[in-house]
Amino acid sequence: MSFPEKIVLASGNSGKVKEFSKLFAEYQVKVVPQQELGVSDVAETGTTFVENAIIKARHAARETGLPAIADDSGLVVNALGGAPGIYSARFAGEGASDTQNIELLLSRLHSEADRRAHFMCTLVFMRHADDPVPLISQGHWHGLIRQQVSGHGGFGYDPVFYVPSHECTAAELDSQTKNSISHRGQAMTVLIQQMRQTFA
Ligand code: IMP
Repeated sequence: MSFPEKIVLASGNSGKVKEFSKLFAEYQVKVVPQQELGVSDVAETGTTFVENAIIKARHAARETGLPAIADDSGLVVNALGGAPGIYSARFAGEGASDTQNIELLLSRLHSEADRRAHFMCTLVFMRHADDPVPLISQGHWHGLIRQQVSGHGGFGYDPVFYVPSHECTAAELDSQTKNSISHRGQAMTVLIQQMRQTFA
């Protein structure tokens, strides 16, 4: 069996489209963002990263007839019982900005001594919409939530996510360094290994 010629990516984020295209280029796989194929939005009704990634991949595969990849990621904070978790993008409400989400996070952690957190990324590959054995990979990136923002790179919670190994926040890392150690980078490496075992 060989790698599929085309995979639909259940995301419209241009950064992610670029990352996945780069990852699959050496296997001659074309990664097509789902909007290009007119895929409708789907409600992320799961309560875990895995469930939501499966919902998105299955929906994109169902609507296009192509194999699909979806990701779901977020910030998991120990002292908050795992919140904001799957609600990371809308922690401070539907349509909230990164700044609003960070402000809420810092206020919830006010006077909290335990600052441990990790970014989490789940990737799912489904050969078709009814695939009973999707490939699933996960990446965890551990760090600490700082008391205030620092740095201008990245997105989301990067300015308050302190990376002990590099002694700076994720927003102070260049994008290549971040991609090489991040939750998403780790999950991508594992997924490609799983796909090589399946297809190569
Ligand atoms: P999504 O799965 O890419 O939509 O990410 C969900 C949310 O998790 C984002 O809106 C961010 O708030 C947060 N998030 C995920 N990955 C990262 C990251 O690498 N840096 C900062 N925030 C992230």
